[in-house]
Amino acid sequence: MRWTRSYIPTLKEAPSDAEVISHKLLLRAGMIRRLTSGIYTWLPLGLRALNKAADIVRKEMDEAGAQEILMPTVQPADLWSESGRWEKYGKELLRFKDRHERDYCLGPTHEEVITDLLRGEIRSYRQLPINLYQIQTKFRDEIRPRFGLMRGREFLMKDAYSFDSTDEGADKSYMSMRDAYTQIFTNMALNFRPVEADSGAIGGSFSHEFMVLAETGEDTIAACTAWPKCSFAANVERCAVLPQKADTSSAESLPMLEVDTPHAHTVEDIAKFLSVNKNTILKTLLLIADGKPVAALLRGDRELNMIKLKNLLDVEELDFANPEQVTRHTNAPVGFAGPVGLHDVKLIIADHELNITNDWVAGANKKDTHVMHLNLHRDASITQWADIRNAVENDPCPHCGTALELKKGIEVGHIFKLGTKYSESMKAVFVDENGIENPIIMGCYGIGVSRVVAACIEQNNDANGIIFPPPLAPYKVTVINLDPKNEAVTAKADAIYAYIKGKNLEVIYDDREERPGIKFKDADLIGIPLQIIIGGKSLEKGFVETKIRKSNEKGQINAENYEKEFDALYEEMLSMWK
Ligand code: ATP
Ligand code: MG
Repeated sequence: MRWTRSYIPTLKEAPSDAEVISHKLLLRAGMIRRLTSGIYTWLPLGLRALNKAADIVRKEMDEAGAQEILMPTVQPADLWSESGRWEKYGKELLRFKDRHERDYCLGPTHEEVITDLLRGEIRSYRQLPINLYQIQTKFRDEIRPRFGLMRGREFLMKDAYSFDSTDEGADKSYMSMRDAYTQIFTNMALNFRPVEADSGAIGGSFSHEFMVLAETGEDTIAACTAWPKCSFAANVERCAVLPQKADTSSAESLPMLEVDTPHAHTVEDIAKFLSVNKNTILKTLLLIADGKPVAALLRGDRELNMIKLKNLLDVEELDFANPEQVTRHTNAPVGFAGPVGLHDVKLIIADHELNITNDWVAGANKKDTHVMHLNLHRDASITQWADIRNAVENDPCPHCGTALELKKGIEVGHIFKLGTKYSESMKAVFVDENGIENPIIMGCYGIGVSRVVAACIEQNNDANGIIFPPPLAPYKVTVINLDPKNEAVTAKADAIYAYIKGKNLEVIYDDREERPGIKFKDADLIGIPLQIIIGGKSLEKGFVETKIRKSNEKGQINAENYEKEFDALYEEMLSMWK
């Protein structure tokens, strides 16, 4: 493609509302333009990258035995009422009425539509398993659309759904998708981790998120430092923290002692006031779980994990108590809660890490007062010891015991064993070998195709622009003609361009009458993996210049017999991404 015939509106500066690097570079490289909040137009260069991502996904899905379909964007409310999600889904679901006053929504996902499709078709176990997928535009009215393509309202997703007659079959379908996803993100040359997304992180897990590792990621994952020997990685919110060895020296601990701590409300204040380390202080958090007060005990420097506590208590609603409720249960203003002497708090949950010592500083449930030498086994009545905190750096890996490290990630894919959630509520059944009717066992598998493009750029960029990995690059090579008015230069550039095209490599030919500086800047900005630069001076000396975008390595190849040297250079560039 000639640059003069294509539409690549590059910009010197990114609009000021672009916060993250991928958003800035996508705008500056002329790949996308914003229509309105969270909604973007794909320009030619951007669309080429998006299509690359979609094609890689499509190939591996087909390989794994899934078949492509295309479902509608507009979905009737009736189906969503059947699954119970018309009420539950919340404001992300964009709802509207047609001229007959019937309710509809724009599809944020397609479980309802596909379950409706299959329940009309499937009768017998003989028709299963089936795996169907689509690559289609989704709409979610996100509360805070941001970071450009990363969290849009309209975005491109690949969603697949598997249907099985047996539990083993469903597990097999799940595993095959997990393998396909691993292949997909490997083929895209992305640095990623499959991450266990279940709460029970030990043992087999049937929900994985695929995370592209990048500093700017919204998610924090705890990953085993023994990678790739141990492949454990989990969303930090869901990463299990193993119990540590208990301190059994309780008999020797000193009697509990009250101390005055005027105006010391926070863990920091107490640590300073008593000159103790934060990890010797026990903090007591008061929460309300389905209307009942609960005390959660943690080491002073730890964070409560609401998801773990909620799962443990098996409640619908869990929230922090307000100051008035705190005073009611502790007889003191906020900041002096402790496990001994609470009023009307029947549930006291201690993080199992608190077992490691029997000598704590804690609130005394009295204004401006704390206690020292608290022994939880001796002085308090703990309802349950459990894992209720967030994992931190150096916690032991739940699989192999090696230290964990925390990394930032961008969720590009999510796979999930659904079971019979939708098939039961929507009555999608089949008749088994014994003539008995059963609900179909389902799985669902998503990839944020447009988010992949953004995540790829977050992971691959420098001060000059995008550094596309070849599999997602809009073009593999750019031929830059530095002097289109010079006949010899143009003849050479045309010839090299024709040669590369002839090899079936996608190539963009910068034939614009612009200053060399502008062409160099644009080539770096749009991030094409290999640059071939033809200029008058070097041509006179018998060579053309080259640059590999990833390493910024400059070189030259013979201007007369460039074929072999170009081929070798191209291979060298590819090998940098292996
Ligand atoms: P998130 O936690 O980021 O909101 P999700 O759990 O809602 O994601 P899924 O419903 O599993 O996401 O959707 C499948 C994939 O679609 C996600 O893994 C992600 O890559 C992509 N995706 C989800 N929401 C958006 C969005 N608002 N913009 C772009 N991509 C998205
Ligand atoms: Mg979401």
